[in-house]
Amino acid sequence: MTSVLTPAPTAATSTVDLGPAVALSCRECGSRIELGPYYACTECFGPLEVAYEFTERGEALRKKIEAGPDNIWRWASLLPVPAGIADTPNINPGQTKLVRADNLARELGMKTLWVKDDSGNPTHSFKDRVVAVALAAARELGFTVLACPSTGNLANAVAAAAARAGIRSVVLVPANLEQQKILTTAAYGGTLVAVDGNYDDINRLAGQIAAEQDDWAFVNVNVRPYYAEGSKTLGFEVAEQLGWRLPEQVVIPIASGAQLVKIDKGFQELIDLGLVDSSEYKVFGAQATGCSPVATAFKAGTDTVRPVKPDTIAKSLAIGNPADGPYVLDVTRRTGGAVEDVSDEEVIEGIKLLARTEGIFAETAGGVTVATLRKLLATGQLDPEAETVIFNTGDGLKTLDAIAHVVGPTARIAPTLAAFEEAGLA
Ligand SMILES: *Cc1c(COP(=O)(O)O)cnc(C)c1O
Ligand SMILES: [Zn+2]
Repeated sequence: MTSVLTPAPTAATSTVDLGPAVALSCRECGSRIELGPYYACTECFGPLEVAYEFTERGEALRKKIEAGPDNIWRWASLLPVPAGIADTPNINPGQTKLVRADNLARELGMKTLWVKDDSGNPTHSFKDRVVAVALAAARELGFTVLACPSTGNLANAVAAAAARAGIRSVVLVPANLEQQKILTTAAYGGTLVAVDGNYDDINRLAGQIAAEQDDWAFVNVNVRPYYAEGSKTLGFEVAEQLGWRLPEQVVIPIASGAQLVKIDKGFQELIDLGLVDSSEYKVFGAQATGCSPVATAFKAGTDTVRPVKPDTIAKSLAIGNPADGPYVLDVTRRTGGAVEDVSDEEVIEGIKLLARTEGIFAETAGGVTVATLRKLLATGQLDPEAETVIFNTGDGLKTLDAIAHVVGPTARIAPTLAAFEEAGLA
C-alpha cells in the first residue's frame, strides 16, 4: 500500500473483489479513483465514498435478500464486500429488533412509534455493523491488523471482530472512558491503549499512526469509505421490517454523523432499486448540548460546523469535530427534518423513560435520542401523527455510571414478612 493520496495501481488493488462496489468517488468534486485503501480525494482532498454498479433490482433482488442469511450479509448485494462473505469469520451483526413502542408513544402523545434496537448486536451497539463491513474490505485490501480511535463502542466492536477473524487489533480510547467500555474491550485480548486526551486528539494520533503502519486498517480512518457503508443496513432493515416501505420520520443520534447520512443513503438506494415505493421522509439528528456542533450550525442556518470541546455524559457521541457534520446538515435540510440537542439531565430522563415504558435499557446515546424526540415534539418540529422510527444504538449496561446516582433499590429491608409489610411495599 502506497500513500493514501497517491493511488498507484497495484496488483493487490486492481484485482479486489468488493462485490457491487466499482470505485471510490469524491463527495465534493465527484472525481473517481479505483477501489483501494484511500479516503481523501487526490484532486480536492474531499472525503471519498463507495460507488456501485448494481446489477440486480426490483422483485428479483428483493427475493434474493429475503432468502439471505438472518444477519447483515443478507444485504451483501448492496455492500462493498466480497462474494462469499457470509462464510468468512466475522461477527455477523444485524437483523436487530424493530420494537413497536406503543407505551412510549402513548406517553408522548404519538400515534405510531418504533424503536430500532441495535443494542442487540454482538457487542451491544450499532458499531458492529460498520466494523463487520470494514473488516471484510480490509481483508480484501490486504491489511493484517484491525485498528481504530474510538469513543468506546467502536473499540468493543473492533476488538471482538478481530478476535473472531484471528487477527491483531489495536484500539485507542480516551483514558477517561466509562470503565464498562474499557473492560469489555480489554476482555477480547487485543492491544488497548488508553490515551490522555479527548476523541479528537486520539483521532489525530490515529491518522499519524496510519501513515506509518502500512498494513493497519484503521476502520474509521483509512478504510472509512467502506466502514461507513455498514450503517446503510440500519435503513435497509427498518424498511424490510416495516414490510418494504419507509417510515415518515426518523430520529438518529450524531457523533461523526456518518450513521445518519448513511441511513438516508440506504433509503435512497432502496427507492432507486425499486425495493420500496418512493415516499417522503424527514430525517432528524440528535446531539447532547455538551457536544452539539451540528445542532448549533443547523439552528444558525449555516453550512459551517464549528468544532467544539465536548463536555457531556454521552461519551459515545462526544466528537467535537464531526467529519460528516456538513452532510448531516444537507440531509436534514433536504428532507425537512432538523437537528436538536438536549442537556445531560434530559439524557438521563430519556434513558429512564425508555426503560420504564418499553423495557429497553439504552446507553447515553439512546437517552439523547429519546430526549431529542421529546423535545422535537414539544417544539412542534416533529409530527406526532406521522409514523416515526428512533434508533437505539447502544446498551445501558455500558454506561451504568451515568444513572448510578438516580436509580437504585426501592427499599432495603430485613428478610422478614413484617419488615416487608412495614416498608409499605405490598
Ligand atoms: C458511534 C455511535 C453513534 C454515532 O455514530 P456516527 O456514525 O459517528 O455518527 C451513535 N450511537 C452510539 C451508541 C455510538 O457508539
Ligand atoms: Zn474531490
